[in-house]
Amino acid sequence: MHTKFIVVLGSLMSGLGKGAVTSSLLKILSMYHYKVLPMKFDGYLNYDCGTMNPYRHGEVFVLDDGGEVDMDFGMYERFLDLNLTKASSITGGKLLDFILKKEREGGYLGEDVQIIPHLTDEIKSRVLSFASSNNLDFVLIEVGGTVGDMENAYFIEAMRQLAIKEDVMFIDVTYIPQLNVVGEQKTKPAQSAFHLLMSAGVMPDFIVCRAEKEIESKTRKKLALFTSLDENHIIDSSDLKTIYSLPLHFLDQGFDKLIFEKFKMKPKRIDQKELAPWRQLVEKIVSGGGKKVSIGIVGKYVHLIDSYASVKEAIIHAAATLGLDPDIKWIESEDLEKGDKSDVLNGVDGIIVPGGFGNRGIEGMINAIEYARKNSIPYLGLCLGMQLMAVEFARNACGLKGANSSEFDPSSKYKIVDLMPSQLSVKYKGASMRLGSLDTKINKKGSIMYSSYKKSVIKERHRHRYELNNKYRDILERNGLLITATTTDKKLVEALEWSGSFGIGVQSHPELKSRLKTPAPLFLSFMKAAYNRQK
Ligand code: GLN
Repeated sequence: MHTKFIVVLGSLMSGLGKGAVTSSLLKILSMYHYKVLPMKFDGYLNYDCGTMNPYRHGEVFVLDDGGEVDMDFGMYERFLDLNLTKASSITGGKLLDFILKKEREGGYLGEDVQIIPHLTDEIKSRVLSFASSNNLDFVLIEVGGTVGDMENAYFIEAMRQLAIKEDVMFIDVTYIPQLNVVGEQKTKPAQSAFHLLMSAGVMPDFIVCRAEKEIESKTRKKLALFTSLDENHIIDSSDLKTIYSLPLHFLDQGFDKLIFEKFKMKPKRIDQKELAPWRQLVEKIVSGGGKKVSIGIVGKYVHLIDSYASVKEAIIHAAATLGLDPDIKWIESEDLEKGDKSDVLNGVDGIIVPGGFGNRGIEGMINAIEYARKNSIPYLGLCLGMQLMAVEFARNACGLKGANSSEFDPSSKYKIVDLMPSQLSVKYKGASMRLGSLDTKINKKGSIMYSSYKKSVIKERHRHRYELNNKYRDILERNGLLITATTTDKKLVEALEWSGSFGIGVQSHPELKSRLKTPAPLFLSFMKAAYNRQK
């Protein structure tokens, strides 16, 4: 089949859930057994997301191949249940880097290098080679940012040009406000946004409407009239209980059939064997199973929950499988630096310290870990959460006063966590961490690690610079901390466990590979432990 391209654009404002729309369409097409992959365009001039602050941009997602990409990739992978590669991500930074290098090498001799055609040609050529090298039936292309932004204009222009020769369909994800005073859904902003797109030479084939309440037939009619679209091409995407039900909501509206019709394709049948289990899991999330479990996430970026998107989803996946109803308490770690910790942590059944960088809030996280260990509250430490588990244990169980990570106290007498020698000479910050999928060897059969993964060599994704300092392995172990996993050459520590109660820290980020159908094994064990503690 000749590749078809579906371009998802966002109008009016950011945060409308283009990623969820793209992911849901990926899911639907994969349920038809079409070969489909996403591409994401981001207009910013960073080369990739690796140097961005999660507090502004949301989580930095890491792929198997070490690509540090936009958090939308997490959603694509969770819906598609596939491991993607960084070839799916095109940023303004990557394009400019390429174009300038090519210009210096004489690749454009005699020409003046321009956004059109040089940059736009490069985008088209990457899209086409991505489609052909992966032998794809469909490419779902999400254009980051909002229509009208200077930053993504050249991406939209490239897609307009792509449509001259290729089968391309455009979806405009927009917002339908409902003003409290009049109670009416307003279509004017969406109409204007549509016209803005048309003035860029793009005529959307569908409008997906984000709204608090379901799109009324009156609203649909009006929008259809003003945009010359069929009424059934105005698709509802109003608030749902869980994002995972969006593919089902689209199927209910026949979005799949309309897409095939648009591309003049002979419709196949959706595979019920794919659809039914998804539906069941969604029902489990919606019903909650009635067994509440309260999980405290102690971090420094908790005011932007997107910073911990994968951790949150991994909890939801594990809870759905176990029939639990998770109640996540987002705890600002700085709040645990003063006063009584039990005030804030009271009532939580489990505590997670997720990944993070920089000094702020670190002491609060260490206090939370101490509280969990001393009160036998199940604990899961992710990357930084493992490093601080070692620091806490060194200070409070081994008597090493002032123990710390050299990231936070370079003059500490006991650098329990320290830079790897290979990191000492690193000057460039981009893509210079220990990154991507790496092998871990589980050394102890009776450990939480082994009982969770049920095998001795596993792969998880990594993103960190610092390591547990091997000088302190002995003293930590002598005092009862268990080292249950290492790199396959045993040189670096990959997992720590408490011996007295459920507590585990891993140097990796298992949350990044958690999927609805196959939750991250450590999250399953942790959620089970948290629930059992209630009994
Ligand atoms: N800041 C720590 C390091 O670089 C932890 C990183 C993380 O949690 N991802 O090693």
